[in-house]
Amino acid sequence: MSETKNTGDTTLSVTPTKTLSLKRPVEAGIVRQSFSHGRSKAVVVEKVKRRAIAPGEAHAPAAPAPAPAAPAVPPPAAAAAAPAPAPKQVAPAAAARPQPAAKQSQAPARVEQSRQQRSSSGVVLRTLTEEEREARARALSESRIREDEDRKRAEIDAKARAEREAAEAIERAAAEARKREEDARRAQESEAKRRSETEAKRRLAGEPPAPPAPGSAPGVRRPISSAPATAAPLVPVAARPAGAPAEEEAATRIIRRPGVAPKVVVARPVRGAEQKSRGRLTVSSATGEEDERTRSVAAFRRRTQRLKGHFDEPKEKLSREVILPETITVQELANRMSERGVDVIKLLMKQGQMAKITDVIDADTAQLLAEELGHTVKRVAEADVEEGLFDTPDIDDHLVPRPPVVTIMGHVDHGKTSLLDAIRHANVVSGEAGGITQHIGAYQVVAPNGLPVTFIDTPGHAAFTAMRARGAKVTDIVVLVVAADDGVMPQTIEAIAHARAAHVPMIVAINKIDKPDAKPERVRSELLQYEVQVESMGGETLEVEVSAMQRTNLDKLLDLIALQAELLDLKANPDRSAEGTVIEASLDRGRGPVATVLVQRGTLKVGDVIVGGSHWGHVRALIDDKGANCQSAGPSMPVEVLGFGGSPEAGDRVAVVETEARAREITEYRERQRRDKAAARGAARGSLADMMSQLKTAGRKEFPLVIKGDVQGSVEAIIATLEKLNTEEVAARVLHAGVGGITESDITLAAASHAAVLGFNVRAHKEARALAEQDGIEIRYYNIIYNLVDDVKAAMSGMLDPTLREDMLGNAQILEVFNISKVGKVAGCRVTDGIVQRGANVRLIRDNVVVHEGKLSTLKRFKDEVKEVVAGQECGMAFENYQDMRVGDVIECYTVTEIKRSL
Ligand code: GDP
Ligand code: MG
Repeated sequence: MSETKNTGDTTLSVTPTKTLSLKRPVEAGIVRQSFSHGRSKAVVVEKVKRRAIAPGEAHAPAAPAPAPAAPAVPPPAAAAAAPAPAPKQVAPAAAARPQPAAKQSQAPARVEQSRQQRSSSGVVLRTLTEEEREARARALSESRIREDEDRKRAEIDAKARAEREAAEAIERAAAEARKREEDARRAQESEAKRRSETEAKRRLAGEPPAPPAPGSAPGVRRPISSAPATAAPLVPVAARPAGAPAEEEAATRIIRRPGVAPKVVVARPVRGAEQKSRGRLTVSSATGEEDERTRSVAAFRRRTQRLKGHFDEPKEKLSREVILPETITVQELANRMSERGVDVIKLLMKQGQMAKITDVIDADTAQLLAEELGHTVKRVAEADVEEGLFDTPDIDDHLVPRPPVVTIMGHVDHGKTSLLDAIRHANVVSGEAGGITQHIGAYQVVAPNGLPVTFIDTPGHAAFTAMRARGAKVTDIVVLVVAADDGVMPQTIEAIAHARAAHVPMIVAINKIDKPDAKPERVRSELLQYEVQVESMGGETLEVEVSAMQRTNLDKLLDLIALQAELLDLKANPDRSAEGTVIEASLDRGRGPVATVLVQRGTLKVGDVIVGGSHWGHVRALIDDKGANCQSAGPSMPVEVLGFGGSPEAGDRVAVVETEARAREITEYRERQRRDKAAARGAARGSLADMMSQLKTAGRKEFPLVIKGDVQGSVEAIIATLEKLNTEEVAARVLHAGVGGITESDITLAAASHAAVLGFNVRAHKEARALAEQDGIEIRYYNIIYNLVDDVKAAMSGMLDPTLREDMLGNAQILEVFNISKVGKVAGCRVTDGIVQRGANVRLIRDNVVVHEGKLSTLKRFKDEVKEVVAGQECGMAFENYQDMRVGDVIECYTVTEIKRSL
């Protein structure tokens, strides 16, 4: 038998080299055996390398080292009896020859030395040498020590790790707790916000407030505050219920549907399964309105109930006080009542009125609707915004004397400005004179008696009347300046007329008496023609001869003013919010709108909110007539006011209001009114017919007229004729009569006194016509005196009270009194004579004494409402606002006719 080594054969390899294995490397080869008769056989021969085992290992085979470090030596072969793997510290054993398993187990690991010995001798030693035993023992003990050390180190390591882990866990827990606390707080805040919003919405919608404890309501999330937020810091993370955060994130939603109060719906957190089971994708679901689908059971029930038409939660009706102006749109009314617009329209339709939401309805209709819907109504007129703004009466005991306000009037060039300047300068201490360059259109001086006097520097009587036309009564005293060398001139006459119309006392100042051609006596006698009777002529009008140029008698003039003021007993209350009048106003480039205001009552202070005309503002600064800043201005004091939003007009009344809002309200109203007036220009006051209704004065009624004629003769004739018309009840009052065309001045006078302007053979100037048109003053032209007089007579006749005539209709006797619910008491009567008519006046007579006078509210014959019932028939009658009828009473029925009277 021959053996050939065949290593090239690859087919029968049992040691695949391609894979990385932990198997002991095997040296394999194929040996070919040849037998007789030409037979051969290939046999695979393996050589397995054996690993030597350390000595300690054999003794403690059941205690493997815990260190899982990669072994420096390849692990033992898959032999069944292979010993436990050696610890890495053990010196690796050299590859050993294959040995029987039994022998191997007995043989301990060899040390280097013994191996060398053995390999050299080639025999296996049965007994150990002394050296060997020592080495073995040493190795054993060393390994034990090492083992112990390892264990200890491991223990220490483990302890340290445990400690570290514990510390980390605590830290983590603390962080977690902090986070949770934060979350809880945030959630709580958002919850509170949501709740308040919901509450506000509910309230807005007039719903009853939400239940105070939302936690108790089903489907509503528990408040976060109940979570153990404060105890959190040391609680381990695992202690938190896993589901809690998801629940907390459940969103509370508000679903609004028209007509139904907003509902709070809690959307449950959507879980995977539910999400899958959701129906088809719609726009609303796509845009996130999943609450429709994730409604609570209660919401579902409510919905079905709603669909069925049952409302188990009736809307709580809130009764409101609805403020109704003169007109209101349907929409606004609905808003003010917190009702739906359609409901209001429905109600309107029920009453037979088709209206759109934008339609304007009157206050009466609106009141009816509001009351029908169970609200109370407060009617306001638009003009109410101005209510209490002016002329709130002063309480008597607060009144203190105030300086008189004086206006100087007269013909042009008679010395008005000179006189004002003279008075002002005379009153200023020398040296201060340079400081009075400031001209504010009004100033105060001190009279010789020590009391101050306020002068208003108006450009003439036209301005004075313009102010009066705006409702401002500024002036207490008029000083009429007449030049002694010129005498009474047209404007002097106008000035007299204006002063008279305003019922303001006059003081005549005869100026320029220094002039050589001065004739003061002529002036006095001329004034007589105009019914101004001065003292020296035996009259009552105070007079003084002055010279503005020479400054003579200025003190005397001031004395007279003080005297007149004393007679007038001028008083005002300084301790109240201020009222005043704009004397002049301008737009200053640097300071904005500047208004000179004469304070008439109360005290104006810096910072006050003021309204003047259609402008308002805060008083930024007050500057007195000497140009000094001041903090306040009392009655009769003129001041420049800075702070208006725009410049008001001369004559506009100024008042202090409480709030900006009020100021805005008033100015807006005035602005509106101004526009309306401009729109309705010409339709108003000056027509003869309309005028009468406006003049409802007590006692004798006056019919004011301004008459202009071509010649003095005709004017006098007209006045004389008109005077004859005067009766005890009504009188024509000629405010001004003159020769020449109708001027602007005539129109302003007429406007201020609501007078008619009559022109006899004269025409109005162009400007006067325009002004008349603007102010709505009617100008009538005549060329026959009788026509004029007839017209006035007719107009005056309209002012006479009509005579009332009573016509007896009939009587009825009460047979029985019924009490009918809703209607009240109804008297069953029989008409004894004449007829009884519905709407007629009735008297209830009991034992020949009239116990009630009024009207019938119903007149019925059987079931039907009838117009009249004749004698002999029976009927039912009820009174308006009267219930106390008794059997046996007599009802007297009569009509009243008005009979117009004429002069
Ligand atoms: P107004 O148009 O009424 O304001 O009159 P003014 O004050 O402007 O005066 C007109 C003119 O009259 C001026 O030239 C003044 O100098 C003059 N004047 C005013 N008062 C007197 C006076 O008392 N004596 C004299 N001689 N001239 C005067
Ligand atoms: Mg002047």
